[in-house]
Amino acid sequence: MAASPFPAYISTRGSSPDVDFTAALLAGVAPDGGLYVPTAWPDLRGTSAVHGGSAALATAVLAPFVGTALPPEVLERAATRMAGQFQHPETTPLVELAPGMFVLELFHGPTAAFKDYAMQMVAVLAEAALSSRSERLLLVTATSGDTGAAAVRAFAGLDRVDLVVLHPLGRVSPVQRLQMTTTGAANVLNLAVRGDFDDCQRLVKGLLAHAGLTQGRRVSSVNSINWARLAGQIPYFASAGQSLGSEADRATYVVPTGNFGDAFAGWAGRKIGLPMGGLLAATNRNDALVRALETGVYERTQAVSTASVSMDVQAPSNFERLVFEASGRDSGLTRGLFEDFARKGRVTLPGDLLSALRREVSAVSVSETETTQEIARTYAEFGRVICPHTAVALHAARRLDRSAGPVVALSTAHPAKFPESVEAALGFTPERPQQLEGLEGRTEVFESVDPTLEAVLAAIG
Ligand SMILES: *Cc1c(COP(=O)(O)O)cnc(C)c1O
Repeated sequence: MAASPFPAYISTRGSSPDVDFTAALLAGVAPDGGLYVPTAWPDLRGTSAVHGGSAALATAVLAPFVGTALPPEVLERAATRMAGQFQHPETTPLVELAPGMFVLELFHGPTAAFKDYAMQMVAVLAEAALSSRSERLLLVTATSGDTGAAAVRAFAGLDRVDLVVLHPLGRVSPVQRLQMTTTGAANVLNLAVRGDFDDCQRLVKGLLAHAGLTQGRRVSSVNSINWARLAGQIPYFASAGQSLGSEADRATYVVPTGNFGDAFAGWAGRKIGLPMGGLLAATNRNDALVRALETGVYERTQAVSTASVSMDVQAPSNFERLVFEASGRDSGLTRGLFEDFARKGRVTLPGDLLSALRREVSAVSVSETETTQEIARTYAEFGRVICPHTAVALHAARRLDRSAGPVVALSTAHPAKFPESVEAALGFTPERPQQLEGLEGRTEVFESVDPTLEAVLAAIG
């Protein structure tokens, strides 16, 4: 008889069986359509666990989430791989731009965006989980650029995982496309969809629900609805806290937000007792979250294209996790709201839930003009070139009162991934870091497909 999983994960919608960390990792979404969260949050307060170099720190923060689902050395191996793939000795250095104003640099990984941090670890954990089950996994993911690149780099060459990445043809930057298409790995299939990012997402949903494809094999996705990926982003909040020392618990973190994955990782970090103060989610013009917190109406609108492309999200999927927590873990309420939202694209949040949500996080939206101005201003004041996502966070960060404590803006991508936006603001393109060198010389492999399920299924074979 199987021992009960420790720690166990439950669904935000309340009607899925409890699973362990690896089952949550391999499944992605819970069977009832909800998102996995731990049954109880671990408490890291007062432990000495949250000290040490970045691999040790990541291991210590994640160990209580992985529990007995994997041997401890697997997690250590995952964390060591991640740290080894980052080009900076501190992995995620905290840099002070002005007194009390910091950026947390998360872009030193192999594809120069923060998604590398968790993805590098998740690949190792997934391979180990599959190996112990003697299973294989088909991962399908839609990308507007960064997720696909990070996933391809993390999963390329693994034995038990096949990865299919759908990107909108001609709508990702050349650097992003090259990062996905030049690994030469036999287990990666890149599909360039003749359509937009929403088509890619719709097709991935179709694939995950397609009986023929899921018959007799495990099919899952690796975006931030996956608990393992989200948990994998908690450790760098511990690392920032370590650098801030005695000031850490007064620090406000400003998180550039699309699907609210990174911001929820920050929320979870504070929940488990990492020394952290406020959380401010900064969105671009795709501001469903900001409007929800302002008006109590959570509404999906057409996504608009912005310079911070990786945040062009209609409805932040991890908002469901925050609603679940802020409602006092009321799965009935959460299920009702999000099933309604899926049907109607619009729900009204009950008043006491809204007040509770506002106590957990704040959110602001930053315009395209403000984003461009921030890139220019940050360069003029600090001699630093930043990417548009980082600019959204820094702009929001400037509005905060720094006498209340340090302000930490998360810097989620290297500016060289977004040369057009930087050039528009500064008149020159940023220098490429070492990990983005030499991409153009490599052979690209991808297939163009029509935006239909039949075409994508035929390509997967
Ligand atoms: C994915 C991404 C974000 C948004 O992160 P979420 O977890 O979706 O909120 C921000 N910046 C960059 C560079 C990204 O790639």
